[in-house]
Amino acid sequence: MSQLGDLYQELILDHSKRPRNFGPLPEANRTAEGFNRLCGDRVTIRVELEGDLVRAVRFEGSGCAISTASASLLTEAVKGKTRKQAEALFRRFHQLVTGHGEVAADAPPLGKLAVFSGVSEYPARVKCASLAWHTLHSALAAAPTAEPVSTE
Ligand code: ZN
Repeated sequence: MSQLGDLYQELILDHSKRPRNFGPLPEANRTAEGFNRLCGDRVTIRVELEGDLVRAVRFEGSGCAISTASASLLTEAVKGKTRKQAEALFRRFHQLVTGHGEVAADAPPLGKLAVFSGVSEYPARVKCASLAWHTLHSALAAAPTAEPVSTE
């Protein structure tokens, strides 16, 4: 646990215990589900896309502290962004947690997402941290759902 100390920073713990934007999103017109076999993390990302703008994004699921905190911080980070900006943030985040790739000169600032920088030292945790982002990527690429997703 002490070895993982750097990972479990206060912000990650806070977001894993009290995830933001957790729950259904009746107005959603993009949805994707993600599953991380390695750890058992499950996440469903729902996006209300208006034109090219992410008006709202919420998630549901269950998983480890890292995956839950990552999904929670994702929802705060991409709300109000364009699809292109969200994808650019996804690429930047992926570079952060994998420790691979060149950071583009015009890459967006990470803000709070920088708390996941320690993850690159723990390969098993990379999938936990990036699951929600891959799922968002799928949701944004998905065909629009004809009907808003029902929670009934
Ligand atoms: Zn996990």
